[in-house]
Amino acid sequence: MRDFDAIVIGAGAAGMMCAGVAGQRGVRVALLEHGAEPGEKIRISGGGRCNFTNRSVDARNFVSANPDFCRSALAGYGAQDFVALVRRHGIRFHEKHRGQLFCDGSAIQIIDMLRAECAAGGVELRLGARVGAVHSGVDGFTLEATGETLRSKALVIATGGLSIPKIGATDLAYRLARQFGLRVVEPRPGLVPLVFQASDWAIMTDLSGVSVPVEISCRGPYGPGRFREDLLFTHRGLSGPAALQVSSYWSPGSPVTINLMPGVDWPAQVRAKGRRKSALEGMLADWLPRRLAEKIAGSALPSALRARAVAELPDKVLLALAGHTTDWQVCPSGTEGFRKAEVTLGGVDTRDLSSRTMQARQVPGLYFIGEAVDVTGWLGGYNFQWAWSSAVACARSLAAGR
Ligand SMILES: Cc1cc2nc3c(=O)[nH]c(=O)nc-3n(C[C@H](O)[C@H](O)[C@H](O)COP(=O)(O)OP(=O)(O)OC[C@H]3O[C@@H](n4cnc5c(N)ncnc54)[C@H](O)[C@@H]3O)c2cc1C
Repeated sequence: MRDFDAIVIGAGAAGMMCAGVAGQRGVRVALLEHGAEPGEKIRISGGGRCNFTNRSVDARNFVSANPDFCRSALAGYGAQDFVALVRRHGIRFHEKHRGQLFCDGSAIQIIDMLRAECAAGGVELRLGARVGAVHSGVDGFTLEATGETLRSKALVIATGGLSIPKIGATDLAYRLARQFGLRVVEPRPGLVPLVFQASDWAIMTDLSGVSVPVEISCRGPYGPGRFREDLLFTHRGLSGPAALQVSSYWSPGSPVTINLMPGVDWPAQVRAKGRRKSALEGMLADWLPRRLAEKIAGSALPSALRARAVAELPDKVLLALAGHTTDWQVCPSGTEGFRKAEVTLGGVDTRDLSSRTMQARQVPGLYFIGEAVDVTGWLGGYNFQWAWSSAVACARSLAAGR
């Protein structure tokens, strides 16, 4: 039997961060990971460069049944704190689109940084650890891990969500939450491409590969979501940042509204049509990729009118086009699922956790952090920031309770 102050299960973003910070504050930590390497999701994140945070982070960038839950942890350890850590390790980074911060080099630098922080805290990292049944008693928590019994006063579950099962995602967090009487908000894929019935999408497949800046919106269980991002047409439906962002707000059966020409005042364009000597697809190509402009003109006009100059087309026909361009409504049949989802929506119910420490309200010593919790960030570095912030909130509590 080995005794620790805290056992952290899952050496991903949140688990490594928590173990390192707690260890450096004097907590004796064992960090158990069933994979052969820690931080696999960090390694594949941000196209291999890890979008590790965002310059501007607040509660509005997260979806949760309780949107205020994340405030305290974000206030206690924010983007600037993580940036300071990255700088201390000499990792060079740059800002991309809308405050997103990426490594100049490789995401592996972030993993190495977290490993170094764990080593500085004397954390015992065990890779390839198979975690068996977990029990709690007067002496704290005991569990079997690869044939050895470990015991600790505190148990931190940092095993993430269900997305990308092929790199090690499991449902352990939800199973343990239920075992200890915590509620779980049904996990669903988030930041995921949207798909359509093959028969509905057949006429769109020739647009596959076309990307266009749009305004996209929908309304779902987490309220309304509206984003201005690039939309990518695929063989099966819609992807790109616009579709991924809105997917976290979408619920099956509800429509998604797309403005393919945000910022264009279509009625004003119609009023000024007298100046347009080109055919409709030529006019639309002022704002849209040519293939998309052709598709819209083709579906909006009978072939007899397609070659006509816009100036000669009836206003009524042009105004009706707004439905295809600025207010296009589509009804996805589903998503690409956990296989392709960047994150998992839902998770351990925040009503059963302290927002200050991440500790279970009814089970002293039991903590849930990171993506396992019902807090999901937008695309743009917010999910890692939640992992860092929730991890540090927990680590401080572990150190205080030592
Ligand atoms: C392709 C992709 C790209 C992404 N890019 C970004 C990005 O650029 N920026 C951003 O903010 N977010 C990004 N994300 C989301 C981000 O990776 C996650 O939100 C974040 O990793 C969550 O951290 P976590 O520690 O809670 O979970 P994870 O990082 O998933 O870590 C969980 C760990 O627990 C381990 N584990 C699971 N089950 C068990 C078990 N039963 N026993 C022991 N260990 C177990 C896993 O192997 C894993 O190491 C991306 C996600 C994906 C899939």
